[in-house]
Amino acid sequence: MQGNLKNMQRRTFMGFAGATAVVALSGCSTKTQSNNNIKTNNSINTQVFNTSLKQMRKKTQKRVVIIGGGFGGLNTASAIVASDPKQDIEVIVIERNQHYFACPMSNTLLSGDSEFKKENFVFDYSNVQKEYGYEVIQAEVVGIDRKTQIVSTSSGFLEYDFLVMAPGIEYNYEAEFPHWSAKKIRQAKLEAPGGLISDAGIEHTRLIQQLSAFKEAGGEGVIAIIPPRPKITKSLEESVKYTSLQRCKPAPYERACMIANWIKKNNLVGKAKVMILDNSARPQAKAVAFEEVFRELYSDVIEYVGGFDLMDVDFDKKEITYRSINDDADYISAKMSYDVLNLIPLQKASSLISMAGLKTNAWGGAVLAKRRFYTITDSKVYVLGDSASYGKGSYRDNPKKKAGIPAAAQTAYSAAKVAGEMIAKRVLTNIDEPIKEFSASCFSMVESDGDRLGIAIYKDFEFTDNGFIIDENIPKIAGKYYNILAGEGLLGWFDGVMADTFATFIKPVRSLA
Ligand SMILES: Cc1cc2nc3c(=O)[nH]c(=O)nc-3n(C[C@H](O)[C@H](O)[C@H](O)COP(=O)(O)OP(=O)(O)OC[C@H]3O[C@@H](n4cnc5c(N)ncnc54)[C@H](O)[C@@H]3O)c2cc1C
Repeated sequence: MQGNLKNMQRRTFMGFAGATAVVALSGCSTKTQSNNNIKTNNSINTQVFNTSLKQMRKKTQKRVVIIGGGFGGLNTASAIVASDPKQDIEVIVIERNQHYFACPMSNTLLSGDSEFKKENFVFDYSNVQKEYGYEVIQAEVVGIDRKTQIVSTSSGFLEYDFLVMAPGIEYNYEAEFPHWSAKKIRQAKLEAPGGLISDAGIEHTRLIQQLSAFKEAGGEGVIAIIPPRPKITKSLEESVKYTSLQRCKPAPYERACMIANWIKKNNLVGKAKVMILDNSARPQAKAVAFEEVFRELYSDVIEYVGGFDLMDVDFDKKEITYRSINDDADYISAKMSYDVLNLIPLQKASSLISMAGLKTNAWGGAVLAKRRFYTITDSKVYVLGDSASYGKGSYRDNPKKKAGIPAAAQTAYSAAKVAGEMIAKRVLTNIDEPIKEFSASCFSMVESDGDRLGIAIYKDFEFTDNGFIIDENIPKIAGKYYNILAGEGLLGWFDGVMADTFATFIKPVRSLA
């Protein structure tokens, strides 16, 4: 009964994830991958990237060049191809890495659940070329000349008729810690990795290694997680609201739950604890739901500290200097020790956006034209994924409440599917349609121990000429925000979206009973 329910729930979510997807089950890949040494028995994988680039001649007069082989870039590419049955448009993706490490669900790697393995999060670009037929070139984009419509890369240059930019995010330690030297920033990345950027999974591996070392040393002490802060407090009177890009806002709280789950599995309760040191007073995403989880599942393992104002970190001494924002009496600096630190810094859009001379917002995101995925600066340049700035919309049930569109894989995925179709239509017929709607569901795993328990949030964005309207729902099942439907939903969503994005048809992240 349980198994049937799980399968049914999984199908429901797969159906949702694949609503706009073109998942052809016939193209099965028999890819097998191992951690540091990626092996595949897929015949074209030895030549993952097809073309060596000097100046690649256009095959047609309609070339779309896409920067970034992540959720935004690849799904724009496949949607263009799907909307161009005669293959009149030449679609080329430029990606600097040979492999992509998927961040969604990667926090489960910290949970100690042996069914999740790092290799299941690593993807390459062989299948997309074979199954979808667009080109992928491995090169780093180093320049964009919008006047001549030329993209310069580390191995040559490419002309475009339309350019799609989906290069993701960068950390912004410099804005948050202006007093830190470049050497100290490097030390922060190494010793307290943010674990928010794909980076071939290097940061995630470091976090896993740190937990193992912590356990080997006796498993006693504090594992501190510092979520990105929404404001920088200069003094008691003056606090500057910092408009930072925040990739996957729930990720730090999901990570806390996964590490707490690991502490329980390893019988370290009473010895080890997770401290969430949050500048905000409450969790910055899915607040009521995460508070319920902290209270009901992890009261003996997770300590949530709100109003935490990080001032400095001494990585050699493993010591944090901080102030407390909420309590006037405590508004003096104090120090605390940690054993493992996950410091998630402020973020900004990829610097390629400003390099291209596009109008940007406070965190470097490309400002888009009204109801369009192309930029206000240049209608031939589209921006998808976390680098795009949609501004703020209003909630349907509370129009005074405003919010942006979350920087998330599902946002990038569903927006890219819509954008690709719109780009193809524009290139082929000259019709330039406005955005009508797209969605951004997000699941967070909170317990991965036998049954998987998660929290779900569903967001829909309806675009009108006056901006966009947000519908949001964090469902409860049997009175709980955390539930098996959302836990299994995350697995189904991940399998479906990854299968479609990387044409792996189907590489489930674990076997589902
Ligand atoms: C721990 C964690 C958990 C998450 N969980 C979820 C979740 O449950 N659900 C969800 O929806 N989202 C989740 N996310 C967010 C999600 O991973 C991102 O929002 C998503 O990856 C954004 O897609 P993108 O295409 O904009 O950028 P990316 O996926 O980062 O892709 C950008 C690509 O561009 C390439 N690139 C950059 N610069 C260049 C250059 N100069 N030349 C060539 N290539 C370049 C990069 O190598 C990269 O491959 C999570 C993120 C984290 C960190």
